[in-house]
Amino acid sequence: MSNTMSDQDFGEKPVERRDTDNYVNEYTESFVDKWDDLIDWDSRAKSEGDFFIQELKKRGAKRVLDVATGTGFHSIRLLEAGFDVVSVDGAPEMLIKAFENGRKRGHILRVTQADWRELNRDIYGRYDAVVCLGNSFTHLFNENDRRKALAEFHAALNHDGVLILDQRNYDAILDHGYSSAHTFYYCGDNVSVHPEHVDDGLARFRYAFPDKSVFHLNMFPLRKPYVRRLMREVGFQKIETYGDFKETYHDTEPDFFIHVADKK
Ligand code: SAM
Repeated sequence: MSNTMSDQDFGEKPVERRDTDNYVNEYTESFVDKWDDLIDWDSRAKSEGDFFIQELKKRGAKRVLDVATGTGFHSIRLLEAGFDVVSVDGAPEMLIKAFENGRKRGHILRVTQADWRELNRDIYGRYDAVVCLGNSFTHLFNENDRRKALAEFHAALNHDGVLILDQRNYDAILDHGYSSAHTFYYCGDNVSVHPEHVDDGLARFRYAFPDKSVFHLNMFPLRKPYVRRLMREVGFQKIETYGDFKETYHDTEPDFFIHVADKK
């Protein structure tokens, strides 16, 4: 498979690369430069509307920790909606881009580089909400890492805080194959996104751009009931799962699930 212009390194056998720590090598400078084409900010803002803002406002949240800042889309939206936001990511290239994107819009983002598994070592204080969006949790390849990350998110929250975490609908991909209208997140024009390899332990997605550059992400195909169970087991009391921002859906229909997990 061609990997034109990619500076990513998945080793000799890319489908065998299934480790949590590799995300930092996947988000290389050139992929990060492309990322905003991939997630076309205007279309994305239109598709998700004010879903997250409403969920946060409903709970009176003020201090928000964006733990998967990426290029800054949600951090900046939430700042502009009046929340007090701290932006965390484990990949330095992402934080550099997020900071630049913030500057372009007249904001100084408060960024912190931290891995979720050691989040509370690197952040200060407690938050009303933790958001982990854009199918980020999928980067964790083993259960200990998932439990540790969720426990760190839980600990970063005030006693009545909320975690909002989304994921691709991998149940549909594993059970019925891939079909996506690319309506919600991956809505950049002319970017082709599809899974090149899927099994119970890996979903390897290929992202092809108009300039012929091709990048990949190796992700763990999270099943929805499994994620809900882990959230319950680390102590979240109430978990609502939405499909593409709606309360009612058929399990095979949505592209994305959004879990809204209350600590209290
Ligand atoms: N939320 C952004 C968006 O929607 O555009 C970025 C999504 S991107 C798919 C996933 C992000 O999660 C990347 O920026 C990556 O560096 C970050 N990430 C993945 N695993 C991480 C970990 N263990 N600790 C901290 N950040 C991590």
